[in-house]
Amino acid sequence: MAARPTPSRLPDTGRHRVVVIGGGSAGITVAARLRRAGVTDITIVEPSDTHWYQPLWTLVGGGQASLRGTRRPEASVIPDGVRWVRRHAVAVDPDARTVTLFGGDQLSYEYLVMAPGIQLDWNGVPGLADAVGHGRVSSNYAPEYAPRTWELIKGMRSGTAVFTQPATPVKCGGAPQKIAYLAADYWRKQKVLDRIRVVLVLPTPALFGVPEWRRTLEQVVHRYGIEVRLQSEMTAVDGDRHEIVVTDHAGGTSETIRYDLLHAVPPQSAPDWVKASPLADPASPLGFVAADKHTLRHPVYGNVFALGDVANLPTSKTGAAVRKQAPVLVANLLDVMNGRSPSRGYDGYTSCPLVTARDRMALAEFDYDLKPRPSFPLINTFKERRDMWVFKRYALPSIYWHDMLTGRL
Ligand code: FAD
Repeated sequence: MAARPTPSRLPDTGRHRVVVIGGGSAGITVAARLRRAGVTDITIVEPSDTHWYQPLWTLVGGGQASLRGTRRPEASVIPDGVRWVRRHAVAVDPDARTVTLFGGDQLSYEYLVMAPGIQLDWNGVPGLADAVGHGRVSSNYAPEYAPRTWELIKGMRSGTAVFTQPATPVKCGGAPQKIAYLAADYWRKQKVLDRIRVVLVLPTPALFGVPEWRRTLEQVVHRYGIEVRLQSEMTAVDGDRHEIVVTDHAGGTSETIRYDLLHAVPPQSAPDWVKASPLADPASPLGFVAADKHTLRHPVYGNVFALGDVANLPTSKTGAAVRKQAPVLVANLLDVMNGRSPSRGYDGYTSCPLVTARDRMALAEFDYDLKPRPSFPLINTFKERRDMWVFKRYALPSIYWHDMLTGRL
């Protein structure tokens, strides 16, 4: 059996062929594919000793999966032959081609892949950082809180449950509403739904951007009797009084809602050190990394590529998008390493498994033009289906660990 990689704590000097910042979905997939292509001298900078499969956190919050099943040791996903520096990156100097690590050490690179993910800005809503994880407030967006969501859902028999989504881009745009549907279906089965007021606060003008799935979701909220506040946002939380302020951006009004359960999704942005770096897209107010939307190459620094949640790409930020971005990025990086122009193009493919009940799901898949891009063209994935729920719960995690992270898919 091959020895497990152990983190290399002190970086050696010298220029590394490829440095990948972030050992999450995107960083590991890219590193694995580069290794399969025969690239040597790859270094991953990743501070965490745990790798998470985040898409299952929705089902953890819905009481349908265990948190334990969503994590593996980071060491077990680092590809053989890849060096792991277990530190935070804190700055990049793309002119000097260096990455500064927490503590001050530096790594030099020939080629850089930016994949440090998205930052959860709990302080972006007054009161939220203090309230989350206490009393009646939870969030599936952090593993320490997701199990609590289920505890709150399970314990509720009457009152008001509020589910919110911020106006910033978020990872998995469907996740803020999926948990509302899982909760409502549970309460329906417990025969208490008629005693619970369910409010869904969304920043968008409609439940979903693509009409084919929007129609399905409209039927779902009608079935559960969910009150939907569109173009609205939670702008303050008072955890002691169990109240939130919801601002309606279309009407310019605000209202206070008292809750007995609050599932809050925090505002999100690029990590602060990325925002402050020359790699941030000047056109992105939230500091996401500039990348050509087809080649994934930085428009100014040709030896830098970006993918995943940190990249400023006009598509929904998901692991499914990463799955399609990684092969394109690796092919284009190999082109550039070999003195050629990038030859592959990413079309914006992303996917959102829209869990609408405890045993039903519609699979939204679309591209930059919001054109449906079904992986299963012979079945109707616009509507709620049991087979798609089984696919999300059991097949997708296995595909992730065994095929995507190993660079086979
Ligand atoms: P991540 O996987 O988050 O990895 C980023 C990595 O960078 C982390 O390992 C982190 O430790 C590391 N890092 C952070 N800071 C630094 C630093 N300073 N230096 C070095 N490394 C750093 N996607 C789907 O496709 N389908 C779904 O159903 C789905 N549901 C979701 C539900 C929830 C509740 C959540 C939270 C996410 C969901 N997603 C889903 C989104 C998906 O998990 C992300 O889009 C995906 O993980 C993005 O990959 P990434 O590598 O860009 O970021």
